[in-house]
Amino acid sequence: MQLIRRSAGRRLRAFGAVLITTLGLTAAAATPATAAANACLTGTLAFDHYDAEAGTSKPLRTQVARNANWELWGRTGSGTATRLAAGITGASDGRFTACHTASLAEAYVRFRSSSTSMWRVVKAANDTTDYTFDSARRTNVSGTVDLGTVKVPSSLQRAWKVVDTMNVLYWKRANPSSSCWTARQADGRCDRITFVWDPRVADGGYWDYPNTNYVFLGATMPDSKHLILHEAGHWLQWQLYGRDFPVVDDCNPHYVEKHSSESCAWTEGFADAVAAYALGDYRYVRDDGTSVSFENDGPTPGWDDGDTVQGRVGSSLLDLWAPDGPDGGNWDRTIALMTRHFSQDFREYFTEDRPAVGLSTTGAAERILAGHTIWY
Ligand SMILES: [Zn+2]
Repeated sequence: MQLIRRSAGRRLRAFGAVLITTLGLTAAAATPATAAANACLTGTLAFDHYDAEAGTSKPLRTQVARNANWELWGRTGSGTATRLAAGITGASDGRFTACHTASLAEAYVRFRSSSTSMWRVVKAANDTTDYTFDSARRTNVSGTVDLGTVKVPSSLQRAWKVVDTMNVLYWKRANPSSSCWTARQADGRCDRITFVWDPRVADGGYWDYPNTNYVFLGATMPDSKHLILHEAGHWLQWQLYGRDFPVVDDCNPHYVEKHSSESCAWTEGFADAVAAYALGDYRYVRDDGTSVSFENDGPTPGWDDGDTVQGRVGSSLLDLWAPDGPDGGNWDRTIALMTRHFSQDFREYFTEDRPAVGLSTTGAAERILAGHTIWY
């Protein structure tokens, strides 16, 4: 058994136009704001977060929470509130419109640290409930009541940072055949990625394979989107391979610029590339705001050479997928490849599996690898 674990807190914490209405929502989730609605609570869900991507000062920013689950709770008369409707916040603006078909004696919106049934943040491995909080309660609700901007409580804001950040990977997942993360699964039978985050637990920064297969994030780790997405990238590779994963050795610790092993450099380089690709940059950012660039060109000071170096593999992948790269300007053909061909390491990916699907291994592709000191 192995944990894919970047040893970074110490040095490098090891660390990853969709119609949201197709995301496997429950029937109640589709409740529209129709003319028949008699009571609606509307507003915008937002959270504050420490922005590690902005540097070590980690400025506090405010972000709308996109595609986050909400529920309308309320009661028409006396008695206790029940769940009346559910849905997700807007994919671009974090807006919610939570309606019931009758006026309500009392109503409030409950927000959950999850998105549809595709991803969630839970409290612990042995308490897989997501975090929740409720909006202010309104009484005698009839027509539309605008709650304005509803802020996630500061003690929970990192959970919603994870929820919101996962959108950028979901939107780029390049699965044309279903709303699931990969083409391995059909609508209605999607696997969900689970993050375990507890503000009181500092340890984390790994994907717990092959045990729970959850991503564990330590207290402040969600401050880095790269860290969130790197770990999600491990889970994604496992999903692309149909719940299979390369056998990884010599991977603890591992560093972007340093030699590890073929299997470590492949899986860690892929996860690094997932995060950078999803965010549209060329680096890894740690949760303390420090970062490492993937820029390397031939023999590079501080960098080891070859395909046992995760930064050499990750930068090669990013260049193959680049807008001006040989793979068509994106990673889509590699994603499709991975759903059909398992690669134990980068060599197998490049020399066997790319040719099998008609992806280039000569010319520009060969030059990209050579620029990162990889020759096959
Ligand atoms: Zn990793």
